[in-house]
Amino acid sequence: MIVLKFGGTSVEDADAIGRLAGIVERARGERPVVVVSALAKTTDGLIEVLDCACGGDAVAALGLLAGLRNRTLAVARAIFGGDASVSEELAPLFSALDDMARAVAVLRSVPPAARDRFLAHGELVSSILVARALAHMGLPAVRVDARRALVTDAHFGRANPDLARTRTAARESLEGLVARGEIPVVGGFVGAAPDGRTTVLGRGGSDYSAAIFAAVLDAKRVEIWTDVDGMMTADPRIVPDARVLSRISAAEASELAYFGARVLHPLTLAPAIERGIPVFVRNSRRPDLPGTEIHPGFLSDSADVRSIACKRGIAIVDVVTSRMLMATGFLRTLFDVFARHETAVDMVTTSEVSVSVTVDELSRLPEIRRDLDELATVEIAAGRAMVCLVGENLKFKPGIAARIFRALGDINVLMISQGASRRNLSLVVAEEDAERAVRLLHAELFGDREARKETS
Ligand code: ADP
Ligand code: ASP
Ligand code: MG
Repeated sequence: MIVLKFGGTSVEDADAIGRLAGIVERARGERPVVVVSALAKTTDGLIEVLDCACGGDAVAALGLLAGLRNRTLAVARAIFGGDASVSEELAPLFSALDDMARAVAVLRSVPPAARDRFLAHGELVSSILVARALAHMGLPAVRVDARRALVTDAHFGRANPDLARTRTAARESLEGLVARGEIPVVGGFVGAAPDGRTTVLGRGGSDYSAAIFAAVLDAKRVEIWTDVDGMMTADPRIVPDARVLSRISAAEASELAYFGARVLHPLTLAPAIERGIPVFVRNSRRPDLPGTEIHPGFLSDSADVRSIACKRGIAIVDVVTSRMLMATGFLRTLFDVFARHETAVDMVTTSEVSVSVTVDELSRLPEIRRDLDELATVEIAAGRAMVCLVGENLKFKPGIAARIFRALGDINVLMISQGASRRNLSLVVAEEDAERAVRLLHAELFGDREARKETS
């Protein structure tokens, strides 16, 4: 069997769901399991509802929910016409959301488990809608509740899959259907803890669900259907000249995903790659294009930069202390502080008396600062961005640093790191410089004509 995953824009309206049906139909002989995201912008919308409700504004929260419901029901009407049975099936889900929003507005806070249950509704709804749409178009599709198929721990907000339990659950809930020639449709992003409580895998997590199902069901491949032609040399929203990469190594793709290439969730590849399953990234609007292949056995042999990623919203934490002079164990004490507050450190640079680190999770910074203040002088600068050049053998490419700095011209580079992996060179710049930095680097390294004109 194979796993086909469709992102938010690939299920956003009746036309998108029609294209999805065409893709599924063509893959029928390969026994597909279909994984769907929530309709585009739904998860953002649900988060906004919770923010409103937490502020005590029940009326605004219910108004936003009404907007989401109307949009979804309009898609249903466009597909099913006068047949209201799907709308009736969805009604209890929307009223559960209304009830939860009202309760949150009274409490002015939402416990983590309730938040996950709330956010999961995007995918719970879309999986019903898509399964019913496929059936309406004559395909033997059956909706499977993701909470019966994907078992996680109870780390709400960013739950971790339990692969052994998921193997049993996914086989029980999906394999029989596939064997009978039916097409399971399951929501991505969503799972359940062993006690049955709903969990979510973190933003963008539907890709991860697809890879998890592929791994536990021994799929032949995973196809991630999205709104771009594949993994590209940069985010095409930043660099219009970006080109599609027809093949990319798994290590390069993971690094790009981790450093901000949203097209793939950073954890997606691991479960698939460990089992030797190739992952394809393809455009659901242009299904005839081959997209990008990420094959576990593939190693790029070129020493060139393959792609440039960019991650906004990071902070630099500068720690200065004369005590570091000659002190052994200082770095351990420092990293212990970050570990204690469950905040991962990305980039690190040190001098004799100072250490700078970057973090992309800012929520625990006040506590981190409080603890670090006891050790040293601390400065935190938010509003930074990391620009990351990825290429399998970058470390062995002579002259690359000179080209990078020449290309960046007057842009101030706040931190730089190369060598931690042979395939990554990262720079930190102010957020407002990030897009220009990506465009200038892309023009230098990939020879864009338009950007050259802009800069010369
Ligand atoms: P989906 O909803 O299908 O999961 P996402 O919005 O999560 O889609 O990811 C697709 C988006 O990723 C693209 O629209 C594009 O702007 C962005 N992106 C960022 N970096 C890259 C890259 N290197 N190659 C392709 N797309 C990228
Ligand atoms: N709907 C979820 C999100 O927007 C998961 C996904 O689309 O991958 O984060
Ligand atoms: Mg995504």
